[in-house]
Amino acid sequence: MTLRPLAGLLAASSLLALTACNDFHQESGSEIIPQSEAQMSTHGHGVGVSKDVLEVHNDMLVMDTHLDTPAYFHSAKYDFSKRQTFEADGTHVDLPRMKEGGLDGGFWVIFTPQGPLDEASYHSARNSALLRQMAIREMAAKYADEVELAFTADDAERIAGEGKRVVYQSMENSYPLGTDVSLLETFYIGGLRMVGPVHFRNNQFADSATDVTGEKFDGLSPLGEELVKKANELGMILDGSHAADTTVYDMIELSTTPLILSHTGVDGVYEHFRNIPDELLLAVAEDGGVIQINAYGSYLEALEPSPERTQALEELDAEFGDTADMDKETMTRYWEARRALNDEFPPPRSTFEKFMEHMLYALELVGPDHVGMGADWDGGGGVDGMSDITFLPKVTAALIDAGYTKEDIQKIWSGNMLRLLRAAEEARTSELTSPDVLN
Ligand SMILES: [Zn+2]
Repeated sequence: MTLRPLAGLLAASSLLALTACNDFHQESGSEIIPQSEAQMSTHGHGVGVSKDVLEVHNDMLVMDTHLDTPAYFHSAKYDFSKRQTFEADGTHVDLPRMKEGGLDGGFWVIFTPQGPLDEASYHSARNSALLRQMAIREMAAKYADEVELAFTADDAERIAGEGKRVVYQSMENSYPLGTDVSLLETFYIGGLRMVGPVHFRNNQFADSATDVTGEKFDGLSPLGEELVKKANELGMILDGSHAADTTVYDMIELSTTPLILSHTGVDGVYEHFRNIPDELLLAVAEDGGVIQINAYGSYLEALEPSPERTQALEELDAEFGDTADMDKETMTRYWEARRALNDEFPPPRSTFEKFMEHMLYALELVGPDHVGMGADWDGGGGVDGMSDITFLPKVTAALIDAGYTKEDIQKIWSGNMLRLLRAAEEARTSELTSPDVLN
């Protein structure tokens, strides 16, 4: 399977396009289209699950480990406190919808797209990542009555118990750390508790699962090994999503605590670079780790665009070239053209059933102690039948139907990921003062 050039990969729908345009936020192959009217009418508590299931769902601590929503926090068009719709602006998460879907919180992502490996680019990436962390903290401060920053595993239950939403922070792509892993301490003080070394392309730390040039280090680089040690020292969870299989094996070997795959699917259902083969998933689980299932359509199944769409995309790519080389003004024009193209030739979408196939396959293979949910909300996730977080009770319903107990389902919704955070805390050796002490 070949990867399409980056220019043809990114999503478009009004707000998504705006954000992606600024920071290449989207996953590879992201494709967003407006929902059908039938789906729109199922929003809210009428998502088609029984009252009993809703009660079970709402009683649980429900967390997702990959919320890309912070990419919107500095956008004038996005208001976290306002109920928005996927159909209107392409977003998946806001406060009213968190309440509606019973989502108590999770890991909110500091994402940085991969850029050149030179000092000036490192500095610029570092500044963007620090600003993204500030944006998350500002959001928490602004809505202090409704949300709260979380620093320890114990915080989740306490914060949710007070009726507030839980805000842990993770870093997707360690590129902004440059060549100085001690910078991770600064992010730790700001609340960072999970870190993944790499994104779409090989960087200074590790090989990526999707680099078209092939592997560079055969896993972690020496600097990547330092990063793993630093994360362990600080008590952060290490995230193997986006990493090449060799990198994940290296991380298992080196890390003193189990890994998370914060948003990943399984090769057993659909073989794709961004999914994980059975053998490696078994190794992650045997080490105590967890896979959080992604709801990113083009990683769930082979989605064939219509020939007309393919042709239109090729023409667009030929006209504009690689997005990595575009200046701001060209990028804006590119996204306008891309939006129009999507309206005319809608991209194909995956389904809730296919998402559940990945989750149930993983559950069958490694059991309910090693599976959770990281659906890549606001990062390209979402499928027909689960187009935003208001549909989360459907996952609980499907797990009950598949025979999983309440206890199992609670582990899947947050127990497993909190167990990993607890393990990271216990293995922590750093003397650095934790911000929960500062508070
Ligand atoms: Zn991702």
